[in-house]
Amino acid sequence: MRILFVSSEVAPFAKTGGLGDVSAALPRALRAEGHDVLIVAPFYQRVRTPERRFERVLPETEVVLGGRSLRFSVVAARLPDSDVTVLFVDCPALYDRPGIYTQDPDEHLRFSLLGWAALKLCQYTQWAPDIVHCNDWQTSLLPLTLKTMFAWDRLFDRTRTVLTIHNIGHQGAFPSSVLPDTGLADAAHHLHQDQLRDGRINYLLTGILYANAITTVSPTYAREIQTTEHGVGMDGFLRARRSVLFGILNGIDDAEWNPARDGRVPFRYSRDDLSGKALCGQRLAETMKLPHRPGVPVIGIVSRLAWQKGFDLCFDVLPPLLARRDVQLVVLGSGEGRYEELFSRLARQFPRKVAFHKGFSEPLAHLIEAGSDMFLMPSRYEPCGLNQLYSLAYGTPPIVHRTGGLADTVHTWNPTTRKGNGFAFDHFDASGLAWALGYALETWGKPAEWRAMQYNGMSEDFSWKRRVGAYEDVYRGVL
Ligand code: ADP
Repeated sequence: MRILFVSSEVAPFAKTGGLGDVSAALPRALRAEGHDVLIVAPFYQRVRTPERRFERVLPETEVVLGGRSLRFSVVAARLPDSDVTVLFVDCPALYDRPGIYTQDPDEHLRFSLLGWAALKLCQYTQWAPDIVHCNDWQTSLLPLTLKTMFAWDRLFDRTRTVLTIHNIGHQGAFPSSVLPDTGLADAAHHLHQDQLRDGRINYLLTGILYANAITTVSPTYAREIQTTEHGVGMDGFLRARRSVLFGILNGIDDAEWNPARDGRVPFRYSRDDLSGKALCGQRLAETMKLPHRPGVPVIGIVSRLAWQKGFDLCFDVLPPLLARRDVQLVVLGSGEGRYEELFSRLARQFPRKVAFHKGFSEPLAHLIEAGSDMFLMPSRYEPCGLNQLYSLAYGTPPIVHRTGGLADTVHTWNPTTRKGNGFAFDHFDASGLAWALGYALETWGKPAEWRAMQYNGMSEDFSWKRRVGAYEDVYRGVL
């Protein structure tokens, strides 16, 4: 199949979270199955680093949106570890900015252009995709744009669209005054009329209504987003389309996240020989400037510090735990001030127990996964979650709230059956988290059980190779 994968992030070029990882790994896995795959993404300022080479593949062209002429060209680079080409839409007026996402008044326009440019470049190269795979609100106008504004072009006669929802919390909701900028003014009768009457346009909703199929990133999240509790207003529309809604768990990129081959950690190890993990633990302590204390469990956190991630529970639970128990905590992340302040404060209050690195660091993320003993992820909701999968692969049992993809992948250790790979608490409250942490620390005190649990997690196969067939089925289902 010819697959055009359109995304606002693609690792390693531009990534803020899981979407960036998936937008590299899934196309790579599809290519490995023999499909013809192209990725389209914006040419943000941060993509253009001195060591990267880009080839200009399209002369400057123009799209007029909202009466404004947007001139762009297209540059290409190879996706690392594959022969997949990434086509970057180079529109300096919109993308040559420090951030990937912005609060700027033209945010809607930046991503309207992405969809238009993706379709224009198909026309220019006369490359007819079988599937256009859209991701999240940023590319959610594309299915309707294709069905209306590009309907005249026979090139797209057989093209079908798939929308993946990576996080329903972000919908791209804008005032209806942006309508001309979407390029869909002539197709406005296809937009949701009640919303339009109320003065709103919702990008994600438009994608939900018009994509030929919808996927999301775990089976549990696919069910949850059809409920009022988790659907963030989209649940009714998703229920209406449930016959074409599929939950497919994300995989992990084995080239990037495999403790036996990871070039970003100082020592490598496998489920049969964990000696390298202990050495990573020592390096982690040195790096984070904590005393290295073998036998004392280290809890790791790598996360965006956002409301979604559930750290509100930590305000009540962590201070007494750190005061009473012999445990260490290493945190990597940045985001909302209140969480940054919490971890800074804990690091000041417990300097021998807590270290906080504020920021984004790929190498440190790998070192924390490898060098920690357990991994904390108390998300309020979690479409799939990647860090718990990395933790399982790295022998670092995750402690999670049982929601979304966390519910599908983390199973509480049962000493009787010797099944389970971590600790999942049911109710999102302080006592749930305290219970899970307490149970984890108790199990840590039983090395044979801990070892068996690590072994369980490290034996699971979360590779994309196992997932890619489910996407192929969805594609075939709409063709
Ligand atoms: P989300 O997409 O909601 O942020 P996921 O767990 O799906 O959550 O994916 C998060 C990805 O971003 C992982 O690859 C994780 O390692 C990475 N990540 C998050 N915060 C940081 C950070 N501060 N430094 C390095 N990597 C990070």
